[in-house]
Amino acid sequence: MAKLYFRYGAMNSGKSTALLQAAHNYEERGHQVLLAKPGVDSKAGRAILSRLGVDRSVDYLLGDNDDAYQTFQHHRSQVQERHGTDVSCLLIDESQFLTEHQVNDLMRIAVLDNIPVICYGIRTDFRTSAFPGSRRLLEIAHSLEELKTICRCGRKAVFNARCAHGTYIFEGDQVAIDGMEVTYESLCATCYLRESGGRLNREWHVAQD
Ligand SMILES: [Zn+2]
Repeated sequence: MAKLYFRYGAMNSGKSTALLQAAHNYEERGHQVLLAKPGVDSKAGRAILSRLGVDRSVDYLLGDNDDAYQTFQHHRSQVQERHGTDVSCLLIDESQFLTEHQVNDLMRIAVLDNIPVICYGIRTDFRTSAFPGSRRLLEIAHSLEELKTICRCGRKAVFNARCAHGTYIFEGDQVAIDGMEVTYESLCATCYLRESGGRLNREWHVAQD
């Protein structure tokens, strides 16, 4: 039986680079892979942007209402027609933006169709709450693997702080509105709590009321 994998990390932990490397490893052995990602990532469109400068387009995007199981079967049959061979692996970038139902579909692809599905994504948002796709992957994936990156202080970074106009901000929508200029910094829990005044996710609201 194939497995559903979730390889998660803070921002800048090299997730897209790892995805492209995994695709390359399959392809250099003559295997076919499919690359997909949720369609809400409008800034980058279809591109998988690796910080090492190796970029590649996904084979398809998944909109919020798309059936991830049927969409995969459609693209799988195209690969079979073109190459006369089945897909060996489905690789998903930005998997934190998947819906819960889409993650369930990915589990069905792995188990019922016996095709490994490897999802890369961010575990939590800038408020330290899980993204919907990440929450479901943490619940059901067969394999969880953390991709590590380093905080400014040298500890392992686990959180993503949002910065705007030179200061950290701890309130706002999970995904920053297009046009709003924000950057993110990967921080360890110690540095995050220092910047947030000791507060995590909804405690920020409670403390201000
Ligand atoms: Zn730190």
